[in-house]
Amino acid sequence: MEIKLKNLTKVFPGNPAKNIPDAVAVDSLNVDIRDGELIGLLGPSGCGKSTTLYMIAGLKAPTDGEIWFGDEDVTHLSPEKREIGLVFQNYALYPHMTVYDNVKFPLTNLHVVTNKKAKVLENNDLIKRLLLNEFDAVLEIILSSKFKGKYSKDMSARRLVKKYHIVTSIAESIFKLGLQNIETEASLNYAKLQEQKAALSAKTYLAKKDEQKAKLDAAIAKLDEQLKAIDVEKMKEEVLELRLKKRDDIIASLDSSSQKNLEALKAKGFSIDDKFNILGPDGAPIQEKRKLDKDQMDALIQETARLVQIDEYLTRKPSELSGGQQQRVAIARALVKKPRVLLLDEPLSNLDARLRLQTREEIRRIQQETGITTIFVTHDQEEAMSICDDIVVMKLGVEMQRDHPQAVYNSPNCLFVAKFLGTPPINVFFGELKGGSLYIGEEKILSHKKLSEFEDGHKVYVGIRPEGFLAGSDVPEKEKVLTLDVEQIQTMGRDISLVCNHEQHADNNDIKVIIDSLIQINLGKNKFGVKEQKLFIFDGESEKRIYLDEDK
Ligand code: ATP
Repeated sequence: MEIKLKNLTKVFPGNPAKNIPDAVAVDSLNVDIRDGELIGLLGPSGCGKSTTLYMIAGLKAPTDGEIWFGDEDVTHLSPEKREIGLVFQNYALYPHMTVYDNVKFPLTNLHVVTNKKAKVLENNDLIKRLLLNEFDAVLEIILSSKFKGKYSKDMSARRLVKKYHIVTSIAESIFKLGLQNIETEASLNYAKLQEQKAALSAKTYLAKKDEQKAKLDAAIAKLDEQLKAIDVEKMKEEVLELRLKKRDDIIASLDSSSQKNLEALKAKGFSIDDKFNILGPDGAPIQEKRKLDKDQMDALIQETARLVQIDEYLTRKPSELSGGQQQRVAIARALVKKPRVLLLDEPLSNLDARLRLQTREEIRRIQQETGITTIFVTHDQEEAMSICDDIVVMKLGVEMQRDHPQAVYNSPNCLFVAKFLGTPPINVFFGELKGGSLYIGEEKILSHKKLSEFEDGHKVYVGIRPEGFLAGSDVPEKEKVLTLDVEQIQTMGRDISLVCNHEQHADNNDIKVIIDSLIQINLGKNKFGVKEQKLFIFDGESEKRIYLDEDK
């Protein structure tokens, strides 16, 4: 299911009397989510990601803007009608219920929309014919001799007539008045001869002696002659004429409102297709809402349990499960209804580090297996980066950047995004542009013609990823060199992590440098080279990226 957020806005009204201003939680958010995509809404606490999710779920009403699921504007639909599965941070399973019943719970009130079936028809040929035709035929059959005496017993016919929206009063009148045997002399004779012929044919079939057979054949031939003598077409016409006249008499005897209803009904022209779907006037099946039966529920529960791998625990109570297993039950509960969209609100935050890692892989697998469009809200950038197809980084209700996680990491469009993504975080320095070059303190870090567009002294922020440094023999002779004061050296196997200091350091994090562990580094001042693709320049005021690449 494709999802579109168009100018989605949520303002929580303040209270002027108490000097509380309006809170703009989400501000004109435009996001397109492709069918089958797992998208992460990522940002610090208070950036509006949960509010966005709740608006998509229908739990919070937008102040402005629209939410579309495919071609359907769901902005004002109730949550039940949106067909979403929601997993909260506090997944709150019902402790007194088994896992099976927990997963079953959303199904108990679920109404599925299916084609309305004329089920009673399947075993009742008479009624089948009754409904296979339109109203004229319904009347005709009701009035025909075949229906004689059946009207009071055959409640299913009556129900069917009602189901067909045939107004009860009309149906009742027809039942009461119409059930005489309407036949002509010829038609009665014809029916009698047909009956006799059928009986003789059966006898012929059973006859053992040739002599007996010949006798029967002769009798049949006689009957055939008598039958041939009847003008069947004329006979049918006469009967039909008689029945229609009777029908018209009945209709004429109805009160005016029933007459009107009847007209409307005829105009509706219901019918039944070969699969017993009731078709409306446009030929499309009439749909009905109904609850699932026990077997249907069980099939869904088993299927979902297998998908999220909790099928072994179905008889347990939630307290007999680990946190990760409980979260899987919560996911099963959200998925069991086969929602159009899966919404996950920080689903891993109650799990310990190991389980979080494992469960996020699980979520990815389940999402890929089901292909369900999923929106994942988290403030944990690593989590979002590891499993999402795309991430939307938000700040104060506004989308800052949206792209594949690696693309956002490799090319952040502003200081906020650069700082938000990456572990350890990006190192930020105060910088200055002068004569087409970037300086940190007295050191010229790089020169680029793009930088000459700025006045000398233009203040910037410089972000350098921890892995963006060169050390030892890789350090260039002149430019792209930054001298850092190494305060700690932490060996981490393949790499070493250096904790450093610099006068122009622009935030509270330690300056972290990650280099190959084979490089020899000493405490104190060291010269480092800077990898250009790991360095980003941001305007000192707007904090927006100053792109050196002309294509950007
Ligand atoms: P967190 O990660 O802490 O859940 P979030 O990014 O999900 O944060 P929201 O819960 O969407 O953020 O909140 C966005 C902003 O809207 C916050 O500033 C919050 O204080 C404000 N807000 C949320 N709910 C209300 C409310 N009912 N009344 C007033 N302000 C609210």
